[in-house]
Amino acid sequence: MEEKILKISSLTLAVLIVTALVALRPFSEINKREEKREQMSELQMLAYYTEQAEEEEDINFRQQLRVEIPSGMTEQDISIENNYVRQLITIEIPGVEKDYFTSHPLLGRSNHINDLYMESGVIEITMDAVYEVKTTVTGSYLYVDFLTPQQVYDKVVVIDAGHGGGAPGAIKQEIMEKDINLAIVLQLKELLDKNDRNIGVYYTRTEDTNPTFEQRAQLGGKSEANLYISVHSNSTTDGQMSSYNGTEVMYDELKEEEGLSSKHLAQICLEEITGAMGSKNNGLTHGNGIYIIRNNEVPTALIEVGFMTNQEELNKLNSPEYQKQAAQGIYNAIMRALDEGY
Ligand SMILES: [Zn+2]
Repeated sequence: MEEKILKISSLTLAVLIVTALVALRPFSEINKREEKREQMSELQMLAYYTEQAEEEEDINFRQQLRVEIPSGMTEQDISIENNYVRQLITIEIPGVEKDYFTSHPLLGRSNHINDLYMESGVIEITMDAVYEVKTTVTGSYLYVDFLTPQQVYDKVVVIDAGHGGGAPGAIKQEIMEKDINLAIVLQLKELLDKNDRNIGVYYTRTEDTNPTFEQRAQLGGKSEANLYISVHSNSTTDGQMSSYNGTEVMYDELKEEEGLSSKHLAQICLEEITGAMGSKNNGLTHGNGIYIIRNNEVPTALIEVGFMTNQEELNKLNSPEYQKQAAQGIYNAIMRALDEGY
């Protein structure tokens, strides 16, 4: 009797185990997939799902990403933000559930993605350089292409408004250098926006923010810009008010000085700006000691527009009319430099 019960119960146990294994099998497969997902970075997941899809769907993703979008959604509903200074592209699909990209994996590839982050309907793509984004919607897919600035524009220029945010630069009579520099750059932006030549312009800032020196300096190389101009306002070394006034332009004296050099760009800036503003020409100065000049990969000129430590020039620098003249001078310099072959 006891033996029989034991036999029956071991049989029951065996049946139960087999049933449980069969029932649990899909779960363990899902778990395996989940585990894999947890072990992989989002970039590895992109590669993994892309290879799978290429085998199964007989498609071939070249340098392009494919995002599945909910039915009825149009291109206008999707927001795409391109932070050129950080080389960070953010794609947002509004109103989807938190794990949307788990059930609708991002597919495709690009050799230029450094990092990828996905949560809810937001995809953050960190690129290895500046790229313009081109998107197209076909059916239920958003296709994303990355274009170099040179594929989009004939010429590329970087403009840096010195200081910003918590770094005000010089302060004289409550006037902050960061505000003067930005005001000039925003006037310059108006002129450049109206220009009908196909010039791509990247700004280190167009607001009261303070990108790091590294972020500022690398934007030239990362966009393979034809030239780079940084706008500052000057002060005497001791910071005291004085009669000393005028414009000077800094360049890297340790870099090649022949041809389309930083030195020649600085000379063009000096002539055009003093010409447009009627300010005193203080000549070129050595700038290798300045981080963004020394670490820039493209021809760079840093313009010290005028002296905040000179009362008359401070008043002028603080006026929109003079800021506009300064912007016109820089604009003329850019156009002349590009005409000369930069
Ligand atoms: Zn400065």
